[in-house]
Amino acid sequence: MNMNSKNSRAKETGELAPTLARRLVELRERKNLTVKDLSLESRFTKQRIEDLESGLETWLSSTDRQLLARALAVDPIIIQEVEARPRLEPTNDPERYNAILADLTDSILKGVKELDCPQCGNTLRCRVQVGIDMDGQEVYFAKAFCQKCPFVLT
Ligand SMILES: [Zn+2]
Repeated sequence: MNMNSKNSRAKETGELAPTLARRLVELRERKNLTVKDLSLESRFTKQRIEDLESGLETWLSSTDRQLLARALAVDPIIIQEVEARPRLEPTNDPERYNAILADLTDSILKGVKELDCPQCGNTLRCRVQVGIDMDGQEVYFAKAFCQKCPFVLT
């Protein structure tokens, strides 16, 4: 088998670039769209598309992802699978981090089971742990951990 037939077969089977930036360029070029065309189709600004294609923006909200996927005529999963969420580090913005943890704790104690990891967006495994305080009263603790990244709520 020579290189040419191998390459053309890879194209036919639809192997796509492994990063969001490169994949978006690839999908746009497959549709023969310019950045301006895509901007009109998706209602994103040209600047935003350039930011996405240069890797400055690495993930999208589900609404934006749907708009972009529709404009590119692909399933949103094609975009989502190469998104990379920035890690939410406690040291960068401790106030926001604590607020997010407080929110998570609250939701878990209310019985919400499907929560997104604040660091990577994957679904968290959550549970409520029951303990007894010094007065013999039941106290509830929210626990969660992520199966994809080191995030843990204890
Ligand atoms: Zn995670």
